[in-house]
Amino acid sequence: MVPFHLLFPEVARLETRAVILLDTNPFSLPPDTYGLVDLYCEQSGCDCRRVMLNVVSDKARRQVATINHGFEPSPLEPEQTFLDPLNPQTDLSLRLLRLVRDHVLRDEAYVARLYQHYRMLKDAVNDPRHPAQKVLRALPSLRRSPRSRKTRRH
Ligand SMILES: [Zn+2]
Repeated sequence: MVPFHLLFPEVARLETRAVILLDTNPFSLPPDTYGLVDLYCEQSGCDCRRVMLNVVSDKARRQVATINHGFEPSPLEPEQTFLDPLNPQTDLSLRLLRLVRDHVLRDEAYVARLYQHYRMLKDAVNDPRHPAQKVLRALPSLRRSPRSRKTRRH
């Protein structure tokens, strides 16, 4: 998985969302600004139509949940939106999943933006002459999640 902002920093600066939660919020989450960093599978020729959202706490300055979301329901995956089993989670993860699944991802404009990011990244991955290839080639192999190598759906 590769963060969208690594390949398209200018677009990401304008189009990366954060959720600001105040003292009393219906999700029982600590008041904070939660950044949603979107990542996508960087395998060429793969059309898995998924996004991974790293939820980053502004106060703690660290990732507090990792949420996996399929743009379409799939018969292979019982849940369309779930906590990624191979990436960092905390005791806030379940509440953040509820926030993202039941609130943030209900915003069709936001989901359409994520899907557009997915397409941009896939176009870059599949085009050997795309300027972002330079960044892709420089990625250490560690960045690729084990999931993308082992499972049928990246
Ligand atoms: Zn994939």
